[in-house]
Formats: sequence, C-alpha cells, structure tokens
Amino acid sequence: MSFAEFYQIFGQIVFLAGISILVLLSMTLILGQKLINEDRLMFPRLLIFTIDVFYGLFKKFAENVGVDDKIVDQIGVEVRNKVNEKIFQRIRPQDKILVLPHCLRNAECEATLESSGLVCKNCNRCVIGVLKNKGEELGYQVFIIPGSTFLKKIVEKNRFKAVLGVACYQDLNLAMNKLSKFHCQGVPLLRDGCVNTKVDTRAVLEKMGVEFGKSNKLNKGCTTEPCTKKTL
Ligand code: SF4
Repeated sequence: MSFAEFYQIFGQIVFLAGISILVLLSMTLILGQKLINEDRLMFPRLLIFTIDVFYGLFKKFAENVGVDDKIVDQIGVEVRNKVNEKIFQRIRPQDKILVLPHCLRNAECEATLESSGLVCKNCNRCVIGVLKNKGEELGYQVFIIPGSTFLKKIVEKNRFKAVLGVACYQDLNLAMNKLSKFHCQGVPLLRDGCVNTKVDTRAVLEKMGVEFGKSNKLNKGCTTEPCTKKTL
C-alpha cells in the first residue's frame, strides 16, 4: 500500500468516526431532552456512556446547537436517578449515606469543620439541621461537606451501599459518576453558588423515604428555611 492510499484510508476512517460521534451526541441530546421534558427514559446505558466519555465535547456540542450546556449534567443526573431509583429504595437506611453541601448553611452557622466535614450544631437556622436530624432518625449516616475531596475520605473510611447527595447539577453528575459502584440518588440545588444556596427539602425527604400526606400544603415548597412541620 502506498503512502497516498494509506492517508486516504486514514482520512476516511477519521471522517466516519467524526460523523459517528456527531450522530451519537445528537441522539443523546434528543433522548436526554425527552427524558427531561416527558419523563421517558430510553437507552440509559448509551446516554451514560456518551456523557461520561464525551463530557467536554458534549458540552461544546450543546452550546453550538444553542442549548445551555448545563443540560449535559442534568441528563446525567436524571438518567442515573432513574436507573438506580428502585434498588436505592430497597436498601435499608443503615446502609445509606446522605451527603449535603456546606453552601446550604446559614451565614451565621456555628458548625465546626472536622475531617469528615462540618459538624452541625442543630441551631435550626438552616435546612441542614432538619435533613440531618431526619436522616439520622431514619438510620442514615449524614455528612456535610465543603468539597469533593471530602467525598474521597468518606468513601475510604465508611461502609455503605447507597448514596443520596445534594449539589449543583455539575457536581452531582460528576460525583454520581465517581460513585457509580454505589447506588446513587441526587437532588439538584434549586439555586446553586458558593453560599446561600437552596434545595427542595421535600424532594430530599421523599428520596430518603419520608411519606407526605397529600393534603398537607405546609409540606410543599420548603427550601432552605427550616421546616416546621411535624408530620414528616
Ligand atoms: S443548622 Fe445550619 S446554620 Fe445551624 S449549625 Fe447546622 S448547618 Fe450551621
């Protein structure tokens, strides 16, 4: 085979690979939008493969077709939630951990930082205390962490089978990928950032297995403020 022929074949292979990746990214975006908008999950393994292998490229592709690149993380979290939902529910709370981000805490928080994360003083100024107390009452180990480096320590030092995490979509997606050998569920923040963030408390409690009465309007829409409800 001459050099000219070799380069021609090589060029054709590269061209076909490029087209295949574009088709894969387009399909994943369409299927991901179906999942987000219509709650229909199709080809979950394909979606997870594309997001994990072509993460940066997929974000650029989304931007170039006029879609906010956050959708990549959103699809990742939604797919992993759906895939793991049933098995997560079957695992007993004693084998689960709840991981909360420190950015949910009140500006006047008195919690101290230790090697496993923040130690909440239950001052009732923010929702962390509510979620921590309910989680521990159910049997969860609860961690309030300032960053993903703490996640590594938690995995090394504790035994558990499933993880319920709260974070922004990007951190959740990446953490759920890293912790894929566990059965993960994630609740995205309603408002992200470094401080003063918000989460749908009810969504977290529901993932923890707390059942709400249908008629209890007080339970709806609780975010970072401590929930006063007694019916949890
Ligand atoms: S309840 Fe919130 S503000 Fe109070 S100590 Fe715990 S984390 Fe800090």
